[in-house]
Amino acid sequence: MTAPHRPRHIALVAHDSMKASLLRWSDHNRSTLQHHVLYATGTTGTMLEYELGLPAHRFMSGPVGGDQQIGARIAEGGLDVLVFFWDPLEAQPHDPDVRALLRIGTVWNIPMACNVATADMLITSPLLNGDYEHRRPDFTPREWDQTQSPTAG
Ligand code: PGA
Repeated sequence: MTAPHRPRHIALVAHDSMKASLLRWSDHNRSTLQHHVLYATGTTGTMLEYELGLPAHRFMSGPVGGDQQIGARIAEGGLDVLVFFWDPLEAQPHDPDVRALLRIGTVWNIPMACNVATADMLITSPLLNGDYEHRRPDFTPREWDQTQSPTAG
């Protein structure tokens, strides 16, 4: 695989029961992933680095703030893609954070893969390496309309 025009910033997150699956997927797609800038929650990132030799910028572990850090990075425009193998069969103590991450990824129109099939399609998409410009919604606060103020007039 040739180097992409513009490396994407890709975050990888897997719940415990999904980590083996994410590692297998990452190993399989190593030649593509190594041309991009990788980010991960703490334990996922440690495994990527030590098991596969794929360096990833590591946030905190998911349940203690890592999911929120990734969400914040998405809101700031610092991430292009999220691969998030969340566990659909087990309740997570940090479920509010999981939901918040999925929500903020949707808000900011981030391509998100939550299972292997979607991740396969995303990582092989020509749009990943091409000139595709991600369209960020514009949530710039509007000018305060003073006529709407309760103290106006
Ligand atoms: P971890 O976090 O990579 O630190 O295990 C994943 C998560 O639970 O969000």
